[in-house]
Amino acid sequence: MIIVLEHNAGEPEKRDLKAFLKDKGFRVREIVGEEEIILGAVGTAHVDLREVEVLPGVARVIPITKPYKLASREFKREDTVVQVGPIKIGGQRIVVIAGPCAVESREQIIEAAQCVKESGAVILRGGAFKPRTSPYSFQGLGEKGLKLLKEASEATGMPVISEIVSIEHLDMFKEYVDILQIGARNMQNFELLKKVGALGKPVLLKRGPAATINDLLMSAEYLLANGDDSVILCERGIRTFETYTRNTLDLSAIPVVKKLSHLPILVDPSHGTGIRDKVSSMALAAIAAGADGLIVEVHPEPDRALSDGAQSLYPEQLEKLMRDIEALAPVLGKEVYKLPEYGDDLRTVSVEGPAGGRASAGETVSGGEAKTAGLHKEESVPLRIGFQGERGAFSERAIYGYFQQDKEPVPFVSFKDIFDAILQNKIDYGVIPIENSLAGSIHQNYDLLLRYPDIRIAGEKKIRIVHSLIGLPDAEIKDIRKVYSHPQGLAQCLKFLEKHSEWEQVPYYDTAGAVEFIAREGQKGNAAIAGREAAKVYKMKVLKEGVETNPKNYTRFFVIAPEGKNKIKNPDRASFVLSTLDKPGALYLTLKILAESHLNMKKLESRPFPGKPWEYMFYIDVEIPEDQEVFYRSVNEIKKNTDYFRILGIYKS
Ligand code: PEP
Ligand code: MN
Repeated sequence: MIIVLEHNAGEPEKRDLKAFLKDKGFRVREIVGEEEIILGAVGTAHVDLREVEVLPGVARVIPITKPYKLASREFKREDTVVQVGPIKIGGQRIVVIAGPCAVESREQIIEAAQCVKESGAVILRGGAFKPRTSPYSFQGLGEKGLKLLKEASEATGMPVISEIVSIEHLDMFKEYVDILQIGARNMQNFELLKKVGALGKPVLLKRGPAATINDLLMSAEYLLANGDDSVILCERGIRTFETYTRNTLDLSAIPVVKKLSHLPILVDPSHGTGIRDKVSSMALAAIAAGADGLIVEVHPEPDRALSDGAQSLYPEQLEKLMRDIEALAPVLGKEVYKLPEYGDDLRTVSVEGPAGGRASAGETVSGGEAKTAGLHKEESVPLRIGFQGERGAFSERAIYGYFQQDKEPVPFVSFKDIFDAILQNKIDYGVIPIENSLAGSIHQNYDLLLRYPDIRIAGEKKIRIVHSLIGLPDAEIKDIRKVYSHPQGLAQCLKFLEKHSEWEQVPYYDTAGAVEFIAREGQKGNAAIAGREAAKVYKMKVLKEGVETNPKNYTRFFVIAPEGKNKIKNPDRASFVLSTLDKPGALYLTLKILAESHLNMKKLESRPFPGKPWEYMFYIDVEIPEDQEVFYRSVNEIKKNTDYFRILGIYKS
């Protein structure tokens, strides 16, 4: 049963309740959710629910109707996010685990680790004890395989996963691996589940070839009931009458599991299909179906693999798959999880790079060797990151999408306030919108970047804008009379609003602010248009999701920081601003230099030069090639034709 506590229930009530339940023979788990605190009581004991309902501090008691309790959505409404080292599995991120079916040798696993990491996988897989159908097939390297896997982990910084097949190996696995895999064949090896559950380490539980979803969740219950709260499920295909593929990958299991359980679920398209050229399409389908990630077999030389070569991807196939996932993720409102060095983790990677300095016209901008200053983690101090608007704004979502470490979003009234707060050291970073794919540039922020020479662009993040119609918790669409939103929000939902022409449209200064306003007013006839995150923040109800006219609605944000705060190891984008000399062909000359250096220009924007009527500043974004010197050389050329030049940022796009 689930016991929801009253909001004002204190520690003494909680303690007495727990003691009461334990006394009756229940195991008790406390879950602190965003909205309420609940106690989950499970076990074989029986008690009249009314007896619990009358105890002090109890708001209500809900029986769990499913046979699995701790694994059920009834028990925990919010998605579970499993932490593996620095990586979080579940939530809004897509995690890709990749590597060979089996560890075969030091060279093989190190090479595999390096290439899957290069492509963007964040966890390395590799079996050491292989449960093979035939006793004559390669059985794995055993403990030696686990040691090699650990070596590969240390060499690349990637956590590792490997399958455990016997209780006897528990100590070994405790020492060498970060996630224990329970293979399909052992999904119902209940003694193994009990012992592995008691270890308390993250576990990937694969669905058995003949197991129903209910069976899978019951096995997860074994792990949870024995004390493990880091359980990840995995769909890897089931036996059906179809023989073309090795198994039938049951992708419908994903939305079903998502409804029934709070646990994250990954998909294994390799064992799911058994055929290499079917793996990538099923992997993408799995992500589209809502999977939290993938576990994929990749081998440096699949044709020589000692097991499952036919279903192992070539490294370049993984690379292509990762690009496709990257393109698909924003459509689903998700991000692909990246290891710090490959992404833009500003806290863990601090790199002294090319100066890219604040050169005014005439000065020389120098390149120079990028050198890693090393990793330094300050996990206990959350980064303070400023954004404009109310809690739940799209800018806040951009913060969650960009920064992977502990963070505290700090709302500001205006964009200028964010710039000021950075200079006053009140926040570490700011996130500002710069361009919307439908509405164009946010000029105010271009102007601020020019006015604050001590602030630099440190990164960028693009997110898809999905608008929702949001109302009071007890409202229905038929109750709505007035709709509040930022004028842009209203404009972007024109088609939907036209269908409800009787509604009064009220412009508001901010989309999330409009949700805060209707929550405060408490009128059932009021609705707001904003992102669904805002509904969550103000405990409002999403009446309809996806009400924007054009689904290809993206906003690009800049991450801004004080100059010199962070330099990115492998920048691929530069933004600069210049004004050309007042002579014929001046802008053409700039563009010519870019063209001749084969520098790809990504954006050109002109803005009036402050205080100089009819003169213009040009904002230019270019790709930085691998040979960064090419970029710095052409920039120095360009500057000769300008009477103002400044680098706004050198960053990773
Ligand atoms: C594996 O991951 O290598 C494996 C044997 O998977 P499954 O248990 O799903 O067959
Ligand atoms: Mn395999």
